[in-house]
Amino acid sequence: MRKRNGSGEIELAAKIIDGRKLAAKLREAFALRVQALEASGACPPGLAVILVGEDAASAVYVRNKIRACEATGIKSVSHRLPSTVSNAELLGMIVELNADADVHGILVQLPLPAHIDVARVLETIAIEKDVDGFHLYNVGALVAGNTVFPPCTPYGVVKLLESEGVSVEGQNVVIVGASNIVGKPMALMLMARDATVAICHAKTRDLAQFTILADILVVAAGVPNLILPQMVKTGAIVIDVGINRLPDGTITGDVDFAGVAQKAAGITPVPGGVGPMTVTMLLENTIASAERASVRQRLVEARHD
Ligand code: NAD
Repeated sequence: MRKRNGSGEIELAAKIIDGRKLAAKLREAFALRVQALEASGACPPGLAVILVGEDAASAVYVRNKIRACEATGIKSVSHRLPSTVSNAELLGMIVELNADADVHGILVQLPLPAHIDVARVLETIAIEKDVDGFHLYNVGALVAGNTVFPPCTPYGVVKLLESEGVSVEGQNVVIVGASNIVGKPMALMLMARDATVAICHAKTRDLAQFTILADILVVAAGVPNLILPQMVKTGAIVIDVGINRLPDGTITGDVDFAGVAQKAAGITPVPGGVGPMTVTMLLENTIASAERASVRQRLVEARHD
């Protein structure tokens, strides 16, 4: 719906859902949780990040994660390995980190070089340190509706919806994209909150016939301008997870933002929407892991008192 203000300019109908603002607010609260942990005598939360190879985008993501950790009081250590690293060496590093009491979260930055057995890498991470939530145990827990490590990007989307007061119960949710890291866990997390969920993917015939039904549309396909205004129901909430770099260097999402913002009730921008929330939820998962470790430690100490 197009609205004109007093000067005749077209106003956006949609509220812009600001991920940066929510991320900043949550991170302030996280810093207090870290201080409380340390005040109780526990060691600060520790995150180990393993980066294999020289992928430029991965290096940027890792740097952002490390910076965010530092700003919150989380001790983060990055381990860089050459792209030629063997499976055994990488698995050995994970096993060592599993045994390190100062490390509460282990993250292996994906994608990994083709010769690395990704499934084995993810399953070698101790389940109580699996802050990305990609270990099969945690995937299974997500299916059962009680994971302790919700995968960070869909978790960030849930927090954005909650902060906007968007109730998902009974709503029609359509998710475009069915990957293991975004689309599938997103579907499970919203099903657990009693939404009616449909998942679309690259082989879906006539995408628009699904998206037009969505009260809440989550798009994570990696295709710029995939979602056009005529594919969106008036008054829908549109969450754009996509991050695409255009030939001129601009970063854009999967949604025609200017067009869809005339019709939707709420929309996330790219950048500044889901992106900042992903890193924020990694911090949350790491702090929560350290808090659980501290409770376990206290139980052990109490037994020996
Ligand atoms: P992926 O390539 O693993 O999966 C893409 C999914 O989209 C697949 O299920 C595919 O079938 C589907 N798809 C592709 N083209 C489609 C089309 N034309 N119509 C319908 N479905 C289509 O990607 P991913 O890792 O899930 O990431 C998706 C996007 O989200 C990418 O742009 C990625 O950069 C972005 N992403 C952003 C964040 C964040 O923090 N904001 C985090 C992870 C991924």
